[in-house]
Amino acid sequence: MKEVRSKADLALHGAAPAYAQPLHVGRPNVGSRDTFMRLAGEIFDRRWFSNNGPLVEEFERTVADFLGVKHCVAMCNGTIALEIAIRALGLGGEVIVPSYTFVATAHALYWQGITPVFADIDPRTHNLDPDAVRRMITPRTTGIIGVHLWGRAAPVSELQAVAEENGLKLMFDAAHAFGCSYQGQMIGKFGSAEVLSFHATKFFNTFEGGAVVTDDDDMAGKMRLMRNFGFAGFDNVIHPGTNGKMTEICAAMGLANFDCLEDVIQTNEANYHAYSLALRGLPGVELIAYDAASRNNFQYVVVEITNGSRATRDEIVAALQAENVLARKYFWPGCHRMKPYRDLFPHAGLMLPHTEAVASRVIVLPTGGDVCASDIEFIASVFRQLA
Ligand SMILES: *Cc1c(COP(=O)(O)O)cnc(C)c1O
Repeated sequence: MKEVRSKADLALHGAAPAYAQPLHVGRPNVGSRDTFMRLAGEIFDRRWFSNNGPLVEEFERTVADFLGVKHCVAMCNGTIALEIAIRALGLGGEVIVPSYTFVATAHALYWQGITPVFADIDPRTHNLDPDAVRRMITPRTTGIIGVHLWGRAAPVSELQAVAEENGLKLMFDAAHAFGCSYQGQMIGKFGSAEVLSFHATKFFNTFEGGAVVTDDDDMAGKMRLMRNFGFAGFDNVIHPGTNGKMTEICAAMGLANFDCLEDVIQTNEANYHAYSLALRGLPGVELIAYDAASRNNFQYVVVEITNGSRATRDEIVAALQAENVLARKYFWPGCHRMKPYRDLFPHAGLMLPHTEAVASRVIVLPTGGDVCASDIEFIASVFRQLA
């Protein structure tokens, strides 16, 4: 057990940090090493490293079955998967997205000459507010990309209604939401397509990787061409494309992680409940709740610091970081305050009051297999001394 320090002993005031090795947010979850090593051996034996190898095909079938979707098109990362899905769906002009998301959601549009238009969020859910989306529609709008932030589903049916009323396309950035459900259905089934990220920091990783999942046969076929330069066979290019392929070694990691998916959820959930108990009753410190009727992967332990706290959000983050607990201010300051968007839309903040408020309140805390009960008790003690 780490001893609980007095306020004067916080590393912020000159004492040594509580952790010699930093405690990170998003330290990779590692599944079965034995499975990974066995599959890696097979890859070397086969000398088939990329280009839709047997492990990528097996990984795609495993993901599609797990989510109950027709197609999983595996890619080299979530950002390229977003770009390819956006292109396959035929988006252009302006596309409405939240600003309160990882910047890749906006960059995947901008990179292709499409203007991301930021709509505000519901401060209770941190997800897109459908009425705010309505307010941002113009004659140039072609679609909406919802983000299931923290693995909590975006308001799927309301966004579907906005899209249908206005003749817009709808897809989702489900980078946080692998293994999560909404109204009894796994996330992955909603909109025209959903995009997953298997980056090392995500709940489920393939070192780097991503996928688009969809029930649309045409879109899946197009994306398979696009991720492989448009090749339809040797010497036969029938579509413009890029290199979005997943490698065999990444697919091996994905298959090895599948074996332990439920264990990781259980560990994360136990950590979440330990945080919830340890932080209970602290004024101005609110752990976000997950809907008990939906499955969540509990990859994000998200705390909001509100007016009741004596210390500011930034003071608490600084105190934790000084102890080598590398808590994060996701997704501060919001995409609209990052380049190039802050130059393109210098007044975007006027339309995004909830985004700005939430971005100034949130702290994400470390979880996963490397975080144990005494770590959580120590982190909570820092909150108790400051908040
Ligand atoms: C991680 C992430 C991405 C990008 O995924 P990569 O695999 O890192 O390219 C996109 N959107 C959101 C919301 C993310 O968190």
